[in-house]
Amino acid sequence: THFGFRDVPEEDKESLVGQVFGKVASKYDLMNDVMSGGVHRVWKDHFIRTLAPGPNTELLDVAGGTGDIAFRFLDYVKNTHGSSNAKVTVVDINPAMLEVGRSRTAEFGYKDSPQINFQVGNAENLENIPDESVDAYTIAFGIRNCTHVDQVVREAYRVLRPGGRFMVLEFGNVENPLVKQIYDFYSFQVIPTLGGIVANDRDSYQYLVESIRKFPPQPQFAQMIKDAGFTVVGRGWEDLTFGVAAIHSGFKL
Ligand code: SAM
Repeated sequence: THFGFRDVPEEDKESLVGQVFGKVASKYDLMNDVMSGGVHRVWKDHFIRTLAPGPNTELLDVAGGTGDIAFRFLDYVKNTHGSSNAKVTVVDINPAMLEVGRSRTAEFGYKDSPQINFQVGNAENLENIPDESVDAYTIAFGIRNCTHVDQVVREAYRVLRPGGRFMVLEFGNVENPLVKQIYDFYSFQVIPTLGGIVANDRDSYQYLVESIRKFPPQPQFAQMIKDAGFTVVGRGWEDLTFGVAAIHSGFKL
């Protein structure tokens, strides 16, 4: 099978994304380390430190996949506040990714813990999550896979309590011309090749690279967050690693 992502009509994007993550689920965590040289861990740690959750924070982690954000969040609250009162709900459209997440609860010390639960759901329509029911909403490397990004941001606004925070970790646009050359070579040549060798699935990683390039650049995405009603501090985002990734944030006031 070949995923010619550029040619896929909008209504098929969801099923394409389903196929891609269904195929890569078992290799997902390994591939993140291989492709990023471990840097995704540094970004995710920084993302949780920026969120700086309190002892009782209730987090909704959407497109939470195998739980990288959720486990970091619970560990942060435990280590910083000595608290086991924080709660996280991990929502993902792909049951195979969530299954990997569930199986990782043991390794992180949260097996059968009431602090974490996993739900299949679509970021564009969080029908099981009531209005104003969570303190924080995170989505890490997931929003670019969604068909209607504005709808995802609106749903985030709906489910957050007043005072709550919306935080997005996503790939961004590299502006520095020299860094961009290196980044382009790495993206278009190295990543699909690694995907072929390590996961035996070049096409899925080709899709990954293309999906990164189609996502709006930082200023445009920050504007979408403001348009949904969020209040942003400063320009609304922080670039990580020359803008290869960025943290966007907005408050529901
Ligand atoms: N947040 C995790 C992390 O940072 O490691 C997983 C990121 S993974 C690159 C993207 C995830 O988004 C996949 O698990 C995929 O199933 C999920 N996803 C894609 N479209 C979605 C949607 N419309 N609603 C919910 N999850 C979605």
